[in-house]
Amino acid sequence: MTPRGEQLCYTDAYARSVEATVRHIEAAEAVVVVLDRTVFYPGGGGQPSDRGLLLRATDGRTWTVRGARKVDGEIVHELELTDGDPPLVGDALLVDLDWARRLSLMRTHTALHALCGVVWRDYGALVTGGNMEPGSGRMDFEFETMSGNLVDAIEATVNEELSAAHDVRVNVLPRDEALAIPDLIRTKINLLPPGIEEIRTIEIVGLDLQADGGTHVANTREVGGIRVTGYESKGRINKRIRIELTEPVID
Ligand SMILES: [Zn+2]
Repeated sequence: MTPRGEQLCYTDAYARSVEATVRHIEAAEAVVVVLDRTVFYPGGGGQPSDRGLLLRATDGRTWTVRGARKVDGEIVHELELTDGDPPLVGDALLVDLDWARRLSLMRTHTALHALCGVVWRDYGALVTGGNMEPGSGRMDFEFETMSGNLVDAIEATVNEELSAAHDVRVNVLPRDEALAIPDLIRTKINLLPPGIEEIRTIEIVGLDLQADGGTHVANTREVGGIRVTGYESKGRINKRIRIELTEPVID
């Protein structure tokens, strides 16, 4: 297939719908659709892929997108099998995210950055993994001294930082320039694939700067607050902290 479709999730996290044309359909055990542009996030870095709808204006047909993923750099949309005949190559469609879910993921993802930023700044602990669902998530740290008291302090500090209304900025830097930033790669293992020439960074201004591919809100005040819902040892050194958002999704 020729040039890659436009991937708006990386440049405008708030783009929730877009008009697009079908470039490629594959119907095997799953029906997958490739478009010339999309607002879907394909998943990655602990953030699940988006869900949503494709709508064809000419006859009002809609298809549910149950997930998206990246195949050879292209974002593919996987349709619900119960929706009947797939759209056709060349069809003009409206691509529409389940926005309440995406926004909740953006707030959750940003909250995890704030957690990660506080734990790094105040305790020097590296992240070893993380995962999220809309409204809740977990992060694993190399954090031997973690305790219940510390977790309470971390929760309070994260909430102070969130309410301090830090802007969240996205940047794309040449690889060498990005790797020259101290502590940019906060994960224990450098997860950047070799050979990539540009590195996308997410900065919570004044708190956290990381290489990252996900979607985030534009200011920490949009997250609201967090609550630590649990912490556990995954070994002598590795510790897990679970959080959830304290404010419901506001669409
Ligand atoms: Zn992120």
